[in-house]
Amino acid sequence: MSQQQRMQGQPMIIMGEDAQRMKDKDAQEHNIAAARAVAESVQSTLGPKGMDKMLVSSMGSVTVTNDGVTILQEMDIDNPTAEMIVEVAETQEDEAGDGTTTAVAVAGELLKQAQDLLDQDIHPTAMIRGFDIASKHAQAEIDDIAESVDPDDEETIRKVAETSMTGKGAELNKEHLSQLIYEAVQAVTVEAEDGSHVVDLEFLNIETQEGSSAGDSELLEGAVIDKDPVHEDMPTDLEDASVMLLDQPVEIEEAEADASLSVDSPDQLQSFIEQEEEQLREKVDRIVDSGADVVVCQKGIDDMAQHYLAKEGILALRRVKKTDMQFLAEVLGANIVSDLDGVTADDLGTGDFTRDDDGELFYVEGTDSHGVTLLLRGSTEHVVDELERGISDALDVVAATVTDGRVLAGGGAIEVELARRVRDHADSVEGREQLAVEAFADALELVPRVLAENAGLDSIDTLVDLRAAHDNGDKRAGLNVFTGDVEDTYEAGVVEPAHAKEQALSSATEAANLVLKIDDIISAGDLSTEGDGEEGGPGGAPGGMGGMGGMGGGMGGMM
Ligand code: ADP
Ligand code: MG
Repeated sequence: MSQQQRMQGQPMIIMGEDAQRMKDKDAQEHNIAAARAVAESVQSTLGPKGMDKMLVSSMGSVTVTNDGVTILQEMDIDNPTAEMIVEVAETQEDEAGDGTTTAVAVAGELLKQAQDLLDQDIHPTAMIRGFDIASKHAQAEIDDIAESVDPDDEETIRKVAETSMTGKGAELNKEHLSQLIYEAVQAVTVEAEDGSHVVDLEFLNIETQEGSSAGDSELLEGAVIDKDPVHEDMPTDLEDASVMLLDQPVEIEEAEADASLSVDSPDQLQSFIEQEEEQLREKVDRIVDSGADVVVCQKGIDDMAQHYLAKEGILALRRVKKTDMQFLAEVLGANIVSDLDGVTADDLGTGDFTRDDDGELFYVEGTDSHGVTLLLRGSTEHVVDELERGISDALDVVAATVTDGRVLAGGGAIEVELARRVRDHADSVEGREQLAVEAFADALELVPRVLAENAGLDSIDTLVDLRAAHDNGDKRAGLNVFTGDVEDTYEAGVVEPAHAKEQALSSATEAANLVLKIDDIISAGDLSTEGDGEEGGPGGAPGGMGGMGGMGGGMGGMM
């Protein structure tokens, strides 16, 4: 195609031999198809009846999840347009912690609507304007529809946590876990002077342990360290201990360990060994002199130093994760020490160390305690990993709900109500934008449709019933995916944070508009367009999606 790019009869060669170019409607259709392919790949996971996906990386590691952002990140997508959709999920995850599948699915549906509008020769700029008008209107209506919630409204907050967990590994134990989440967030919430609530998740740490069931998960004051003492003669239970957090190794310094050494006599060797011992001894002395009863080290501790420390009655732990070190600093009120020579008593923190009954973990409670740990348990690594993803989403959701103070009825209720209000608003919009506003309303209804489909229900019947209920003034009528009934989902305990929904709509709109704004694709490589503009599944998606096509076999839903 590059050969056709001429200006005033002059050939203008600005692109390489293999370069390809696509313009206007071709470009838009190409991009829409790519973006939709990605969006559609996560739709089947939406809602409590959504399926899981098994993702097999090129290295052979396996992730089983139905978390939208995890799926998209693991899919290793290398199509630039498709990547824009992945970014929607990432923004949603960062801003709201949940609602990633919704955001991506709505973005895909907006683009599907856009394709229909393109077919009716509506110009993308009119669509973009229309989508913007509709999105702004929907945001404002969310605020009107939302109910307010207090941070200590245990019942509602727990429903928010449970709704976020439904369909995830965490669901089986949702009563126990939602209780833990409620308490954990309470423990780290402070009321600001202006009466607003600030949730400081820095003071909350999640730890996981394999070999038990999720129902045995617990919320603990302080921190947990999954390490053994470096020496068996060390104390394991200490009260009001002075604790040093050290991010340097207690080892012989590297330059000297590496230096080659020619030894001419046994005496020389002996003196060299003594020097090394001396160096370690000095490091240990610094620790002893600081008054520390415990040293928690991010790096290694030499055997000899372990022995010295044990003789001094000091408990030492090594190779503790950096994030755990940072959390321990909060819990114990300690500074992390990088230079043993400059350490003072002020750098140390104070707290109790207790070894658990199985001798696997240390419980650490700060004397001026702040900080709590959510200890999640599960039978195997895959189970614990998926549990952790679910719980950390739920924690973010609850934290955002406590801060924001507004909630909505889920199960598609909010989307149907918003669609109705956006449609009403469309009447007041002039020109071709009106069609785009209406299309936006239709796109919102994707959520209840897919919830129904994933539950094996008839999506058209469901939507008809939902619309009728909302026309009747039932603002909170949503789909109970377990019975197939239309009911007040808020009463039924399906409660979602308003903030996450606003974010999902705004990032979905932004992404769709970003894709629509592109009218020219200039590519250095091949732009083969097999499946262009069609209902492309991941495999048939336009060029550059090789990373996805390659996964086709492993991506079937399973559960
Ligand atoms: P997301 O990544 O968008 O959070 P989910 O798979 O978590 O995707 O599904 C969220 C959707 O499922 C929301 O629309 C929510 O209202 C709905 N949902 C959650 N629990 C229920 C339930 N018990 N009944 C009906 N819908 C539910
Ligand atoms: Mg969710």
